[in-house]
Amino acid sequence: MNARGSDPQVVAPATPGRVVDASKLDLPAAERAALDLLRAIGADIDSPGLVGTPRRVAASFAELVTPAEFAATSFANENGYDELVIARDIPFHTLCMHHLLPFFGQAHVAYVPGEKIVGISKLGRVVEAFARDLQLQERMTVQIADWLEETLKPRGVGVVLSAEHTCMTIRGVRKPGTRTVTSAVRGSLRDDPRARQELFSLVE
Ligand SMILES: [Zn+2]
Repeated sequence: MNARGSDPQVVAPATPGRVVDASKLDLPAAERAALDLLRAIGADIDSPGLVGTPRRVAASFAELVTPAEFAATSFANENGYDELVIARDIPFHTLCMHHLLPFFGQAHVAYVPGEKIVGISKLGRVVEAFARDLQLQERMTVQIADWLEETLKPRGVGVVLSAEHTCMTIRGVRKPGTRTVTSAVRGSLRDDPRARQELFSLVE
């Protein structure tokens, strides 16, 4: 029991459905692959500026796909708070699994508590945990919503991601500034028009 008289429960940062198994990380192999890629695109690998590049590329990718450990602690919702809790404008960046190029933006994570609540800062950690993988925006949106639903069993869940995909803005169709918005809305936030309206007015 803590000072508030509630019983905190540590919930594991389960990130099911990961594409990258960080335990299989092989830095020397990644370094060799980066060197091969440089050769394959016609780079002069003896150029002084490229000397440490394979090592830096391998280290960068390793960092981008390895999730930080964290423990989200949930508490009993003693005061019976049953209105919207929203953490908005959580910055995130991740790698698109189709091009291995970054996409980045803001996540808005909302829930209507049931019997459990979670520290607001932990909502940012959850976003971060799912971002450290090879991702698709739609998939990441659903994963965050699923995690909230399974961990907190809330009355409602709403996750909105707004992101710029560099695979779309610096290459391909090259439309800088284009933002892609995805959402996953469950329970009362999906079924109650007033709650849904409240959510979307807060994240606009
Ligand atoms: Zn892409």
